Amino acid sequence: MKNFENKVNKCRRDFDKAVLRVKDEKSFHELRNLYLSRKRGRLTLLFKELNALKPEEKPKAGQLLNRLKSHIQGKLESRKKKYAITKEEARKTDITLPGRKRYWGSPHPVHLFQEEIENIFLSMGYSVEEGPEIETDYYNFGALNFPPHHPARDDWDTLYIKGDLLLRTHTSPVQIRVMEKRKPPIKIIIPGKVYRKETPDPTHLPMFYQLEGLVVDKGITFAHLKGTLEYFLKTLFSENVKMRFRPGFFPFTEPSAEVDIGCTVCKAKDEECRVCGGSGWIEILGSGMVDPQVFKNVNIDPEVYTGFAFGLGIDRTAMFAYQIADMRYFYENDLRFNRQFFLK
Ligand SMILES: [Zn+2]
Repeated sequence: MKNFENKVNKCRRDFDKAVLRVKDEKSFHELRNLYLSRKRGRLTLLFKELNALKPEEKPKAGQLLNRLKSHIQGKLESRKKKYAITKEEARKTDITLPGRKRYWGSPHPVHLFQEEIENIFLSMGYSVEEGPEIETDYYNFGALNFPPHHPARDDWDTLYIKGDLLLRTHTSPVQIRVMEKRKPPIKIIIPGKVYRKETPDPTHLPMFYQLEGLVVDKGITFAHLKGTLEYFLKTLFSENVKMRFRPGFFPFTEPSAEVDIGCTVCKAKDEECRVCGGSGWIEILGSGMVDPQVFKNVNIDPEVYTGFAFGLGIDRTAMFAYQIADMRYFYENDLRFNRQFFLK
């Protein structure tokens, strides 16, 4: 009986190895005949050996053989299904079809636009500065002339992390960090991510990119500010872009001005334009002369030095430049949208 059991086990092992090599109709039939053929199949021969066993051994031996038989049949069937599918796939492959195009990655559209803006300022002799996205209350508010509990803080309210740490609401803290370390002349732009407590809509996002500029030197006037922004907007949009300055308020500049350009989406022709609200103008920049108190906070003498600062939303401006009606498209990761900008 022991000898018989060994034979059954060996037969199973041999079959398990052989079945892996079945790849087509031909090898399938060959293997099936080798094991299940009614005349000389290995299994058939084992069944014949049953007769030589003692009567009390026969039931158990028969059970072993039947189990082996269904094992072999089951494996053969599943193998057949497998190679049948492979064959079907091979039939579907048409090697005369053109190859599939693979897309290379590319910088994000907002990043490409940021580089476009940076290049304009680099050509005017500005340098690029960066700073931390997690700021202290002092750099984000205090040093920029937002006293505690001042209502101006409400517009910039944000996510506090722990104690006086918060996600910066603007890139302006970097102005302070640079002026603390360096004496004028200063001529910098500061791009980066900022955070606000906004509900996302076509023109607002809780996280967006800002770029601001700061110029500090002797004899800097509002005329320098105006000339710089005019040159910038004409280079970025077009020579005949319409622009206007409106009085505004920022705690860190005095006087302050908001800068509008003629609506690039409806060209001031659509009273129901979602972007300009039908006014024909879109607000694009905040700007102003650096408040003397800010200079005092960083030990720069406001009697000697003056300066101007300005800031814009990169995503927001990209939306106007590319004539996109909803800023949220930039962050939906729809490649059909993103790829439109790759060739620019
Ligand atoms: Zn419009």
